[in-house]
Amino acid sequence: MCILEVNQIIKSFEHGTKALDNFKLSLEKGQVLCIIGESGSGKSTLLRAIAGLESLDSGTIMVQGEKILGPDEKLVPGYEEIQLVHQQFQLYPNSTVEENIARPLLLFDKEYTRERLDTLLKLFKLFPMKDRRPKQLSGGQQQKVAIARALSIEPKLLLLDEPFSQLDPIQKRDLLEELREIFASLSTTVILVTHDLLDALAISEHLCVMRRGKPVQVGTTAELYKYPNSFYVAALFSPINKIPSRNGHYVRPGALKLYRENAKGRIPAQVVFARFLPNHNIIKLKLHEFGGSWLAEDPSRAFEVGDNVYISYPTQEILKLGE
Ligand code: ADP
Ligand code: MG
Repeated sequence: MCILEVNQIIKSFEHGTKALDNFKLSLEKGQVLCIIGESGSGKSTLLRAIAGLESLDSGTIMVQGEKILGPDEKLVPGYEEIQLVHQQFQLYPNSTVEENIARPLLLFDKEYTRERLDTLLKLFKLFPMKDRRPKQLSGGQQQKVAIARALSIEPKLLLLDEPFSQLDPIQKRDLLEELREIFASLSTTVILVTHDLLDALAISEHLCVMRRGKPVQVGTTAELYKYPNSFYVAALFSPINKIPSRNGHYVRPGALKLYRENAKGRIPAQVVFARFLPNHNIIKLKLHEFGGSWLAEDPSRAFEVGDNVYISYPTQEILKLGE
């Protein structure tokens, strides 16, 4: 069932910045979608618009068939059933973890509140620290409290705006894995926006690449990796080597096969740089004939600076890409 429909929305700010430019998107109930875009691409504006916190120039946003009204159309802007969580944790500093999570439930039935609190404290593994105050928690734990609080009233939509950018990589990796499991077990419908592809991949395989206020490509990780519709999308996943003298043809470093011996069709090159990475060495190859250089993966860690290399690649690995 389609829970969210964003139809051709346009939002410009003073000075003519078009933050959203005919943006469209639809989301199924229970789906977790990651929107990836560089800084300034309109991600925060999009989430604010979906939450009813931004007025639009044109277009509509429907949540379960109900039109979202902007701040100029509604007495109290925003919707309880659409929860937006930012990177700043926004917790009440003098309230405990439990009180923070329970805050939106004040007007709810006592029994329901208790039950919901227990469920969330368990799910988010916050039970042992339920009586602590935010400053007695790590950044990752604070962010979990903020997300648990947003989920307390069982919102139709959870919107996360770069919620991990203040966490260190280890905290982040653990939190992402926990959240992935939590969202799956609650069947929460989530939109996460981030500039970090790896964060996105840790949470969901449903991706939307956003650029200059527009959706560039929507699909699963595998679809976007194998069939990128532009250089921009292809280059999110890895460096891209341009095939000389064939306009718009590219090949990924991981698709190159490296040999010590020359043979028909192989491209001669020399290693000018090699670096150890966890799964393979990455090496830079200066192409003899065409000039320019390529990056290649060397999983056997066999090649060193100065070595002669002959390169081939399967034709089905060629990416034909426009800008
Ligand atoms: P992102 O979250 O992807 O970094 P934003 O949605 O914050 O992008 O911003 C998109 C564009 O809109 C940027 O060019 C930004 O400068 C502009 N913008 C965002 N908010 C405002 C505002 N309140 N007033 C004017 N320009 C804004
Ligand atoms: Mg932003």
